[in-house]
Amino acid sequence: MSKNLTSRTEDYSKWYNELVVKADLAENSAVRGCMVIKPYGFAIWEKMQAELDRMFKETGHENAYFPLFVPKSLFEAEEKNAEGFAKECAVVTHYRLQNDPDNEGKLRVDPEAKLEEELVVRPTSEAIIWNTYKGWIQSYRDLPLLINQWANVVRWEMRTRLFLRTAEFLWQEGHTAHATKKEAIVESIQMQEVYAEFAEKFMAMPVIKGAKSESERFAGAEETFTIEALMQDGKALQAGTSHFLGQNFAKAFDVKYTSKEGKQEYVWATSWGVSTRLIGGLIMTHSDDKGLVLPPKLAPIQVAIVPIYKGEEQLEAISNKMDIIVKKLRKKGISVKFDTRDTFRPGAKFAEYELKGVPVRIAIGNRDLENGTLEIARRDTLEKQTVTQDEAVSFVENLLEEIQESLFNKAIDYRKEHTTEVSTFDEFKDVIKNKGGFVSAHWDGTEETEDKIKELTKATIRCIPMDAKEEEGKCVFTGKTSSRRVLFAKAY
Ligand code: AMP
Repeated sequence: MSKNLTSRTEDYSKWYNELVVKADLAENSAVRGCMVIKPYGFAIWEKMQAELDRMFKETGHENAYFPLFVPKSLFEAEEKNAEGFAKECAVVTHYRLQNDPDNEGKLRVDPEAKLEEELVVRPTSEAIIWNTYKGWIQSYRDLPLLINQWANVVRWEMRTRLFLRTAEFLWQEGHTAHATKKEAIVESIQMQEVYAEFAEKFMAMPVIKGAKSESERFAGAEETFTIEALMQDGKALQAGTSHFLGQNFAKAFDVKYTSKEGKQEYVWATSWGVSTRLIGGLIMTHSDDKGLVLPPKLAPIQVAIVPIYKGEEQLEAISNKMDIIVKKLRKKGISVKFDTRDTFRPGAKFAEYELKGVPVRIAIGNRDLENGTLEIARRDTLEKQTVTQDEAVSFVENLLEEIQESLFNKAIDYRKEHTTEVSTFDEFKDVIKNKGGFVSAHWDGTEETEDKIKELTKATIRCIPMDAKEEEGKCVFTGKTSSRRVLFAKAY
């Protein structure tokens, strides 16, 4: 196997990049800023998708699909949204190539094949979707309209990192239409809750639910709700966002409905999304210097079994015993890999599963066969234990639950230790510089102060926590009065 990873304390960012590649999750591609997601990484994404999709459907949403391209005129319709995304849009101007007469064997854009209207490659789909909704919504009976799409989007990001920020990324985007403002706000908060529940229960990644300050809001939104997680290097990650869009898109695309009272009203909108960035969050929440650590609920392989044997006969004896246990584990819905490859030694297999973060590893050798035992190792703490073959199935079942819980608790403890209340700007700077994590501080509510703090410390307002209590205080920077604390951090 490959040599050791750079340690997190040595260079966190290098550790991350190496880990993504060595654990076989993804790699950079020939396209700047775009990644290839490899089968093991994609398997994690599929697990995430399956759970999220279930949660969306349980809350009444249906999946649909809209085009990759947005005609420029439609894209421009909601001005703030268009302006916000303009600088990161890829645009299709031509639809054909031809042989290059000046350069044999090469192709060039056919100047005759210029599109009449340029097409924007979607950085987000509000425009094309709201243009479609115009035809779908006439009366109050058509509402609410609760749609989600699984798709790729393109944002021409200048500084990219595998999973965390790529120029093309996979995501889901929910787009809903409602009769009332209240309903739309309830929906956007509900989806923030769904994201938080997914992050905490499945990713074992604790998140703070909050609202974004105006400057961090989605372009075209009246309010952006976010879930913010804290990574092991003390930097925050915006893990998902849910937007209350008011009537901005309804007005831009003239989407009205006839109310019960027979009046024409503009509809109210929300949109919400999480992306393959979640995989980056998952990695940076739990993994260690030996490799990936995956929470059992999202691990493509939950249990890897490595037989230690000499010769066919021993392997057969081990296989006969293990086949029964494997069947029982699978019956319980546990994903098991019984690794009988004879092209790798057991030590290499151990190293591979450690690097790939498989939560539980079972080793079984000749002596275990004689004793009726197995060796069970957990990836999170690296502890090993010998258990009898009879108790193996229930032991593993409990262990997977324990690992899931223990990863979450460890992450919660880290966040507690790295959330600091400050009252002076000196303290603020000191914490941001030397300790990292969330800084809870009073803020006067102005963009000017927010910008200034960002300029001086690189820390931004991650969110105004939903559960922030009213508390009289003074802005950490200007000393002006403030009624509650907000969370600052350096962020990905
Ligand atoms: P937004 O539509 O801007 O609210 O984005 C929705 C979610 O997508 C964000 O909360 C991020 O988690 C994620 N996201 C935004 N930009 C990127 C990117 N360049 N690469 C990966 N994920 C992204």
